[in-house]
Amino acid sequence: MSEQTIEPLVVLGLGANLGNPLETLAGVLKEIGKLPQTELVAVSPFYKTAPVDSSGPDYVNAVCTVKTALAPQELLDELQWLENLHGRVRPAGVRNAPRTLDLDVLLWGSQTICTSRLVVPHPRMHERAFVLRPLTDILPECVIPGKGRAADWLEGTLGQRISKIST
Ligand code: AMP
Repeated sequence: MSEQTIEPLVVLGLGANLGNPLETLAGVLKEIGKLPQTELVAVSPFYKTAPVDSSGPDYVNAVCTVKTALAPQELLDELQWLENLHGRVRPAGVRNAPRTLDLDVLLWGSQTICTSRLVVPHPRMHERAFVLRPLTDILPECVIPGKGRAADWLEGTLGQRISKIST
């Protein structure tokens, strides 16, 4: 019998609050779909959200799912390359600065990953409406390994301002 690799469903978070966030997110989704050995599976609606642990104008956020034969660190390299391509600057010493593009690996199937460069599930995803709303739009039964159902965590984020801007 031939060996078959079953690729896990990988969930990515997208966010931008500088430049033209809508244009940036639409453009980078196309670029994600063209990454090597990677297939874009689903894209959530876009949301306008108040900055959380950040500053500046409102963000536009979305999530997408991909299947990829890349290793987690390789996909992270590609995502950081796309962030840079879209003019991401990382001011020295400033955490969570406003940004032209932020790409996060939220989930890697049901796996947990903990290296110096990559922690998956993303450690703060379960606290953030701007992740949980779009995530549960496309994966309503999604379970965050070690945390439980994303939909249950969403109920705890009611104070966070978020509004849908596209379907
Ligand atoms: P940020 O400023 O939010 O883009 O954070 C980027 C840094 O977080 C990079 O140094 C990454 O190596 C690290 N990082 C750790 N876990 C993740 C993750 N799940 N997704 C994206 N970046 C991550």
